[in-house]
Amino acid sequence: MSVRVRLAPSPTGNLHIGTARTAVFNWLFAKHHGGQFVLRIEDTDLERSKPEFTENILDGLRWLGLDWDEGPLYQSQRMDLYKNAVQTLLDNGLAYRCYCTPEELKAMREAQKAAKQAPRYDNRHRSLTPEQQKAFEDEGRTAVVRFKIDDDRQIVWNDLVRGTLTWKGSDLGGDMAIARAAKPGEIGQPLYNLAVVVDDIDMNISHVIRGEDHIANTAKQILLYEALGKTAPEFAHTPLILNQKGQKLSKRDGATSVSEFRNLGYTAEALANYMALLGWSPPDNEERFTLGEAAQKFGFDRVNKAGARFDWDKLNWLNGQVLHDLPVDELLEKLIPYWKAAGFEFDAERDRAWLVQIAQVIGPSLTVLPDAVEMSRALFVQSVEYDEKAQQQLAIEQVPEVLTAVRDKLAETSELTEDAAKDIIKQVTKELKVKKGLVMKSLRAGLTGSVQGPDLIQSWLVLNARGLDKARLEKAIS
Ligand code: GLU
Repeated sequence: MSVRVRLAPSPTGNLHIGTARTAVFNWLFAKHHGGQFVLRIEDTDLERSKPEFTENILDGLRWLGLDWDEGPLYQSQRMDLYKNAVQTLLDNGLAYRCYCTPEELKAMREAQKAAKQAPRYDNRHRSLTPEQQKAFEDEGRTAVVRFKIDDDRQIVWNDLVRGTLTWKGSDLGGDMAIARAAKPGEIGQPLYNLAVVVDDIDMNISHVIRGEDHIANTAKQILLYEALGKTAPEFAHTPLILNQKGQKLSKRDGATSVSEFRNLGYTAEALANYMALLGWSPPDNEERFTLGEAAQKFGFDRVNKAGARFDWDKLNWLNGQVLHDLPVDELLEKLIPYWKAAGFEFDAERDRAWLVQIAQVIGPSLTVLPDAVEMSRALFVQSVEYDEKAQQQLAIEQVPEVLTAVRDKLAETSELTEDAAKDIIKQVTKELKVKKGLVMKSLRAGLTGSVQGPDLIQSWLVLNARGLDKARLEKAIS
């Protein structure tokens, strides 16, 4: 079997995390089977589709490393193909023109509501005579095209995630509109279910992998495949992404689009890794992997039916792991834009040596990239302000004496290395008969203006390399 899958986003918003996760599953499945991944932009909704959303979607997919083999194809450029299919269905008596006005449809729905029935089209124009049709046209009415759906049909398919699924024709809302209203003799703009089926046939799609919110559409689409004389592809409906309360993930949960996660400082590697875990787990239960590694193990047998709860802690953990493992040069490239935006003064070329040092110092403590700004502020600025705890620390009676001793020993040291710095702390502790903790905490308060932060010795080395440590010690002593 040759595998061809597709992602079919509608450019009516930025790349949503749900769509991106669908993209991840499609990509993994395609790679696992050595198949192809096609990208199709479903921009038939001309009012809501925007080129900037298409750009955002393409950018997001590229950033995540979800490269596609064909496309992007645009539905807006393929209207004739869909209209031809609508015409075929009309010619074969499987579809018909419905002349109902919006007011009539509204009245129908209200009557159904009053009778406590589910809203549906009651198929009232299914069997109009040519004379009746002509009468409507003479009134100046336009017509949508509807596809016949028999109430007593059973639609059954074997979903790769959810097993056997069964739908009753009577639960599909009556004969389905497949083309918008148009003047007599014309076919209006084709609608979603029809266009999807025509495209999936035309593109030889073998597996349709998409969110479970499309299950009812699948039932309708299977009927369209039949009507067009084609075999339906396999379907896999992936679980929805939920928040911690089990509700659909929304803006209020912090972020919903890939660009928002990117702006929050998540790496593509961690986000892609995390999305693969949203509903899937590899057979070895590994949690950290690249998409390439995941592709080797991916299969729908390990995709959950239940909604996938979004777990920020796990994403943060993964992001931290990715950042901690980056070679320092790559980490530095990611950090520089944040430092620049924070207004820190440096020259990326000239100051490279101490920038590398800073990246090394803060790297192990990073969770997301923007953390780097506060973590490294004391290492960039010329002089520091003391926060409250640092002030308290520096107010302790013995502290000026301790810091004076450090200053003096530093003055005697020709080159401050890691060992030399440790040695100074050790000697001061011993000579002044104070606790090592007191020396360390005071030194940190004096050098960085805070009593916590990244590794003290490494921070001191950076400040020394920049020639800032002596002045800070003097200031703290006074
Ligand atoms: N355009 C649809 C969406 O964004 C695609 C559904 C499908 O994959 O068929 O939800």
